[in-house]
Amino acid sequence: MAELKYDKTGRLIFTKEMKSEYTILIPMMAPIHFNIIKNVFIHYGYKCVLLDTDGPEIAQTGLKYVHNDTCYPALLVIGQFIHALQSGKYDVNKTALMITQTGGGCRASNYIHLLRKALKKAGLEQVPVISLNLSGLEKNEGFSITLPMIRRIVAGLVYGDVLMLLDNQVKPYEVNKGDSAALVQKWTDILTKQFAKGDGYRRKEISKNLDEISCDFSKVKINKVPKIKVGVVGEIYVKYARLGNNDLEKFLYDMGCEVCLPGIMGFALFKVDNRLEDIKLYGGSKIKYSVVKMLMDYLEEMEGYMVESTAKYGFLPPSRYKHTKELVKDVIGYGSKMGEGWLLTAEMLELAETGYENIVCTQPFGCLPNHINGKGMIRKIKSINEKANIVAIDYDPGAPRVNQENRIKLMLAVAKEELEKSTGKKAAGPVLKAKPKEKAKV
Ligand code: SF4
Repeated sequence: MAELKYDKTGRLIFTKEMKSEYTILIPMMAPIHFNIIKNVFIHYGYKCVLLDTDGPEIAQTGLKYVHNDTCYPALLVIGQFIHALQSGKYDVNKTALMITQTGGGCRASNYIHLLRKALKKAGLEQVPVISLNLSGLEKNEGFSITLPMIRRIVAGLVYGDVLMLLDNQVKPYEVNKGDSAALVQKWTDILTKQFAKGDGYRRKEISKNLDEISCDFSKVKINKVPKIKVGVVGEIYVKYARLGNNDLEKFLYDMGCEVCLPGIMGFALFKVDNRLEDIKLYGGSKIKYSVVKMLMDYLEEMEGYMVESTAKYGFLPPSRYKHTKELVKDVIGYGSKMGEGWLLTAEMLELAETGYENIVCTQPFGCLPNHINGKGMIRKIKSINEKANIVAIDYDPGAPRVNQENRIKLMLAVAKEELEKSTGKKAAGPVLKAKPKEKAKV
């Protein structure tokens, strides 16, 4: 059995021996993306399991081991990890955890320390934690991120974004229920096989795959009736994770809406671009600037493939990052970059511009940046685009789901009225009636 090894600071290291013996648990966020990206780690010899557990006990476990004023995404991720370790399903002496460290000024850089503290409290301090970061933060001899690995992860994000976008544009109108979901599964399987063989991440392969994916979705039989179009924005975890937003996407779909979630590539471009902006605003190394610029150019090239393939087959393509950035010029400063920063405001403007003017802005408890760039910018956005119909929803362990859904239904009632006025037709979807309010759990 692999020996436990610590660095000078007393941090438990993920060693080379552990790589072959240990199972790495990864928390779920965006299911389509993560089911593809996990194959990158498997290709490099890591044994990975994506945690897809659900239910109130996850937040309850989180509340037991971290302080209740912690950011809600951290509370859920830590709760999910400890819940899994205590489930008896994994050998706690042969299991490691993987968590992202953004490296920015926001608290997401420090979730890892909270996690270790929680593990200690739960009597699980023998479980090593791997930091997934691109900022040269914590290092482990048994885990490293290489350039080819980054290219494969980027490819995974590109495929995930396109599959999510197409699924969201096709599913609400499909004649035969399940056609769109079947295509998502078909392509997840194809890409899994390609990644296992070390393929699917080169420029030509990406462009070819994306074309074929868009072509497949364009063949699904649809009935394009008027539907309420809803955009979802917010802190990255609560925006995408079912566990974080009480399955918001499904709720909106069941309400008869077409949903649009801006992709993760936009967030990746934003994070890389911030490094360039930092050097422009505060100065810094020219070499670092050139290296980061190369990555930025690569990501923009990938974005180009996504736009081309989806537009070619008649879908609404994702917006170009450059355009999204331009939308917030003179609205909010580019220095506002903690958390989702100005991108959150920009995505709302972009959604309103592309016909998804009904917006749910998801906000986790404890998240200051999102309250500033999200809720705090609603009035300004409405003054720029009067069609914008935005509701900010708070997510925390005590917020009753029924109250969150009632507030969304009020927003949808306004949207339905507007849609019927503009099309002169009855909009699809159920009658929007609010359920009785529930008291917040403390
Ligand atoms: S973005 Fe918000 S939720 Fe995420 S770490 Fe920062 S404060 Fe916490």
